[in-house]
Amino acid sequence: MTGTGAPGRVYLAGAGPGDPELLTRKVDRLLGEADVVLHDALVSEAVLSEVPAETRTRDVGKRPGPDGERTTQEEINQLLVKHARAGETVLRLKGGDPTVFARGGEEADHLAAAGVPCEFVPGVSSVLGAPESADIPLTHRDHASSLTVVTGHEDPAKDDTALDWDALARTVSAGGTLVILMGVRRLPDIAAGLQRHGVAPETPAATVQEATLSSEQTVRGTVGTIGERIREAGIEPPATTIVGDVVEAGGPLADSLPEPIPSLAGGSGAPASRDGATAEER
Ligand code: SAH
Repeated sequence: MTGTGAPGRVYLAGAGPGDPELLTRKVDRLLGEADVVLHDALVSEAVLSEVPAETRTRDVGKRPGPDGERTTQEEINQLLVKHARAGETVLRLKGGDPTVFARGGEEADHLAAAGVPCEFVPGVSSVLGAPESADIPLTHRDHASSLTVVTGHEDPAKDDTALDWDALARTVSAGGTLVILMGVRRLPDIAAGLQRHGVAPETPAATVQEATLSSEQTVRGTVGTIGERIREAGIEPPATTIVGDVVEAGGPLADSLPEPIPSLAGGSGAPASRDGATAEER
């Protein structure tokens, strides 16, 4: 605590998709320095176990807990201001990245209006973490030159949808990668909508549940089959879906690479073979 009467700083930070090894060094440092940690439901137990025992933590996840309690966005905004005005360093920790479908922007606006200093601390978004954990590259010189990220909460059949489904379908048909966050239960509607707007049913698609955790599960299929496949597999949130030819690029690529050679990986400065292959892609 500062104890000077000046408000403490709020860090609107990302904890990555779950695996604590994907925490940034900055967030790792802030976990040790914060007076209070306010975290989302998506921040993994493994990450939370890195918070020192003496640090106050509060789950402000908006999913109902066992007691059905929810913290509203307004209450979260007020809590952030209250702790900062008490001179505390506040770590507002969100799953993935703090500004990707995470209301980091709204919280920053609120803090700015209240005169509380704050900053974003990026995290590894599940946009990147989920596909890569399933060996799916996001772009690939042979397969995809663009990347589009959308919310799965939009129903393509609704007149007032905020997404331009024609444009999305064109991007996918042109070989671009589409990443869909949230709304996994709506995926059958979205897959059907993409096809109505012109996406070929055989376009590869995959859904990754609980990426980077030991419970990770990946279902692969096509735009025509993924809705049914995730139902059969019982896929639940959090899950991220990737649509595009890259879904087929990663597996064969990973399988065809030789194992890293230990003598090269250590000490000599030469990259292991896997890294070497990646460098060629750049
Ligand atoms: N700020 C987060 C996204 C919040 S929206 C980020 O940058 O990752 C919540 C959605 O993120 C989930 O519905 C799911 O689509 C995705 N997600 C978060 N963690 C995930 C994980 N471990 N595996 C797969 N998807 C995940």
